Amino acid sequence: MRIPQADLKAQYETIKEEVNQAILSVVESTQFVRGQAVREFEDAFAHYCDAGHAVGVGNGTDALMLALRALGVGQDDEVITVPFTFTATTEAIHWVGAKIVFVDIQPDTFTMNVEQLEDRITEKTRAIIPVHLYGHPVDMEPVLNIAKKYDLKVLEDGAQAHGALYKDKRVGSFGHATGFSFYPGKNLGAYGDGGAVTTNDPKVAENVKKLGDHGSLKKYENNELGFNSRLDSVQAAVLRVKLKSLDDWNIRRRQIADFYNQALKDIDEVTTPTAATWAEPVYHLYVIQVENRNELKKYLNESGIGAAIHYPTPVHLLKAYEFLGLPEGSYPVSERAAERVLSLPNYPEMSESMTEFVADKVREFFS
Ligand SMILES: *Cc1c(COP(=O)(O)O)cnc(C)c1O
Repeated sequence: MRIPQADLKAQYETIKEEVNQAILSVVESTQFVRGQAVREFEDAFAHYCDAGHAVGVGNGTDALMLALRALGVGQDDEVITVPFTFTATTEAIHWVGAKIVFVDIQPDTFTMNVEQLEDRITEKTRAIIPVHLYGHPVDMEPVLNIAKKYDLKVLEDGAQAHGALYKDKRVGSFGHATGFSFYPGKNLGAYGDGGAVTTNDPKVAENVKKLGDHGSLKKYENNELGFNSRLDSVQAAVLRVKLKSLDDWNIRRRQIADFYNQALKDIDEVTTPTAATWAEPVYHLYVIQVENRNELKKYLNESGIGAAIHYPTPVHLLKAYEFLGLPEGSYPVSERAAERVLSLPNYPEMSESMTEFVADKVREFFS
């Protein structure tokens, strides 16, 4: 049996007719950038996230970067996030000219350790970026309380968490804005790059839209310098079709996670992922922790299982971030997680025999 980390082809087979039709209708309309397909998806996605507005942009990294700018974050400001994330989160901070400041993560949910936040706040701090990593929401209530107390902006990184629930409400409208990625492998993925910013603030939405369209809301009226970062219509049409299945897909990911949790719970060497009591995660990734992670990965890969590591190096120890001058030992919980995490295949189209095969192989390794 061959079980990849994710299988976009298998998903395509389940929605082929509708997706092909949607793509074809954009081609026939020749409205390739912005236009009706984008507006329809933006409305549907805003509604899904229970947010007032959604603005399509070029990708998830731009979503975060444009949202930071739209929130007024820039040169010499400080932005607090976590080092245990994908580099895009911190790239966004860097490229608006702000300084990257970290707090560590919780060892069980891999999300922001909110208790460390206040210690890192200075008079230059302008924003906090909680990352809903692996599809598990950050404990937003204390983040929002601290942000209020110190008058900070909150930008959620929702790139891995479309549809995840925090206290029974979907992520995407807790903070001042949320950045989403529609990279093909995400829970809601396009057939190319794509992203969106959701927000309840119409000014922020307008700003993001303007910044992503060369600083103009009206053609050739460029009142500021912007960027070219727009969601294209073919991607919007694909996303509109796929959004209808998102909840079902997320439910299936949760079922698979429950199955793995049960199947692996008796193995002392394996720590299965924790869901906080207030969280309903969407398991963008199903991540276990083991000491001999690399050996287990090798064993599973040789058995045809696409076990993978997200992420082998916390951001502060990546070569690109040497300029931050943060040595090993700076964020011990993130560093330890990076040494121990292993993502088992979890995608909605997996059959029961596939999930059983994966669990059997993990058990076999430890027996
Ligand atoms: C994927 C991802 C991004 C960036 O999205 P792109 O669409 O690839 O630019 C940002 N943050 C996190 C946590 C991600 O996983």
